[in-house]
Amino acid sequence: MDKQKLWQQIQEELKISVSRTIYQTLFSNTFLISLENKVANIACPSSYIQNLIETRYYSLLKDILDRKTKEENSLVFTVKLMPKDEKKEEFGPLFDNKEIEEASFAAKSSHLGLKANYTFENFCVSQVNQLAYAAATAVAKNLGKAYNPLFLWGGVGVGKTHLMQAIGHEVLKYQPEIKIIYCMGEEFTNEIINAIRSKTTDLFKKKYRGAQLLLLDDVQFIAGKDTVQEEFFHTFNAILQTGGQVVLVSDRPPEEIAKLEERLRSRFEAGLIIDIPAPDFELRSAILLTKAKQKGINLPMDLAQMIASNIDSTRKLEGFLVRLQSEIQTKNIAITADLVRTLLGKGVEDQNRKKMLKPKEIIKLIADYYNLKISDICGQKRIKEYVLPRQILMYLLRTEAQLSLISVAELLGNRDHTTVMHGVDKITRLLSENEDLSVQISGIKQKLYE
Ligand code: ADP
Ligand code: MG
Repeated sequence: MDKQKLWQQIQEELKISVSRTIYQTLFSNTFLISLENKVANIACPSSYIQNLIETRYYSLLKDILDRKTKEENSLVFTVKLMPKDEKKEEFGPLFDNKEIEEASFAAKSSHLGLKANYTFENFCVSQVNQLAYAAATAVAKNLGKAYNPLFLWGGVGVGKTHLMQAIGHEVLKYQPEIKIIYCMGEEFTNEIINAIRSKTTDLFKKKYRGAQLLLLDDVQFIAGKDTVQEEFFHTFNAILQTGGQVVLVSDRPPEEIAKLEERLRSRFEAGLIIDIPAPDFELRSAILLTKAKQKGINLPMDLAQMIASNIDSTRKLEGFLVRLQSEIQTKNIAITADLVRTLLGKGVEDQNRKKMLKPKEIIKLIADYYNLKISDICGQKRIKEYVLPRQILMYLLRTEAQLSLISVAELLGNRDHTTVMHGVDKITRLLSENEDLSVQISGIKQKLYE
């Protein structure tokens, strides 16, 4: 059978085996270059498509080919565009070009782990974050040339991940062939550890060091892990040496990432460091309006402002929108000021819940959590096993029960209130450095409110 005809038959089968979008995106512009000695050489229009076919559809393709040829074939792939005269009208477009482009773009960005709506278009800019936005767009336009690395830092929900992913989307849009890696510090760490364990560090190196754009989110996570930092240092240098771009996100500035190796810190500091402050009222209103629009909720400006003046974190704003949406959908009602006020009221009640915690409950829970007697944790003995739980207790009595330093001091065996102050400060500091402790304390908090 001639190879063109064979490929046409294979494509017909593919059309019914995979979704239309997948067919159009991945297979419609492939063709068979040769089939010799049971080796089929298949042309793909880009390395990205080749990679997807190879990793996800290899066995499907091979099955179809083997059945048609009644042979056991193997497949190899080559990046090659289809010659114009081989483009057959009978495979004619099921979608118009724009749709194909969009489908291919969406497939590619989600393959990289980028959230579809974390784009520059959806990013609201105000005075507080305009610098970060300007730097991010400059980097996306001039990879490796504007600021390298770009280091963005700020608290929870200020839009760091959004902005970082927007760089990825933007680059993908104009330079789809560029090798982009987006990953979290935690993922990076796990991959290194697994690679060492399974002796596949070469693969790891190949993957990361070949990146032309590395987006590493929550980089603070690699601090204190020597092997991980070492590998990251080499990855970082390799990418920079080949003209690639590195973008880093962290919840604090490089100088405050405890146990970050000095050479890494100075590397980070050699680029541009920008902090993103918490969104102000204006920005919160704008974010709300944008998010509402994305969800198809028609939110009037004055109500957006009402919400934004009552809720100050972006994560909570999103949570509020979800509640609002479910309320109007399940009850089939319109959005009114009264509805918003009622929902906001529930939020306020939630916050009040914290104030109702009794100090005694907290003391008992922590004593139980650490297997200590109440008399020990509240007592005077400065035994190592008691000291940390006692300081955690001080911290929680201050932050969750909102007691004064003096009241905490009285509850804990009439100590000096400066001891309590030091204890609370110590836990606050440790929380930003010590992953284990912060997990422990959030576990305790969860129990407190159960
Ligand atoms: P971070 O990584 O800093 O903790 P995210 O980037 O995850 O925060 O942002 C939290 C949520 O708030 C996301 O849904 C994001 O889209 C939204 N958000 C934050 N800042 C902005 C902004 N300036 N414009 C639009 N959305 C924003
Ligand atoms: Mg984030």
